[in-house]
Amino acid sequence: MDLAREHELSTSSANPQAQIRLLDLAAFDADLDRLAHRRRTLPEIAAADVIAGRVAGLNDLIVAAETELSDLTRAQSKAEADVEQVRLRSAKDRELLDSGRVGSAKELANLTHEVESLGRRQGDLEELELEAMERAEEADRHRATLAAERSGLVVELETVVAARDAGLAEIAAAAHATQNQRDQLAAELPADLLAIYTKSREQHGGVGAARLHRGRCEGCQLELTRADIERIRSAAADEVLRCEECRRILVRTEESGL
Ligand SMILES: [Zn+2]
Repeated sequence: MDLAREHELSTSSANPQAQIRLLDLAAFDADLDRLAHRRRTLPEIAAADVIAGRVAGLNDLIVAAETELSDLTRAQSKAEADVEQVRLRSAKDRELLDSGRVGSAKELANLTHEVESLGRRQGDLEELELEAMERAEEADRHRATLAAERSGLVVELETVVAARDAGLAEIAAAAHATQNQRDQLAAELPADLLAIYTKSREQHGGVGAARLHRGRCEGCQLELTRADIERIRSAAADEVLRCEECRRILVRTEESGL
């Protein structure tokens, strides 16, 4: 905006009642800003993110536990098959021994030796099988613990998400109602006054107009000088004034202390 336009705006005039209603507009805008801030900082948003992160972490751990369980189950099956193979071989040898069909002493000794050897081998393999079974059971317990932890977190997450969504819906409803009132009021205000207000709001962190209350600008809280007060006293009622300090539209009311 060029200087000429700035000058034109700074010496604008508007009906004093319209200026006072600008304070209502500023109050609606402050409410909307507060609602937007609440929407951004709703504790349930961060809480839901934290829980969702923990659920994702557990998902990874569960996948790893399931893979380990699957490997151990396979190892257990393999051990079972090994034991079974040796057991069958041993049974066959015993059957042969018991049949009396083996005549040669050397053959008999060899067979007896093999049965003994198979017996030891079966014992070793059964130990491995037991070990594999125990490890698989342990892995399954670990997986179940993680899954139970995740189930608990999922329930917790659902509760927090429901609270978050309810909070957001409540804020949205309040913002919608306030926005409607604000728009209705804005539509009734003079366009040029509204334009100054909007520009001032953009420049001053969301506050476009402030009340002059007992000689103090309520926008920047600065006490006006005697000279400022004198100037304001002599200004026309419909002149749109600005705080010299913060440049917000300064609205006069009966309690301005003039
Ligand atoms: Zn000020």
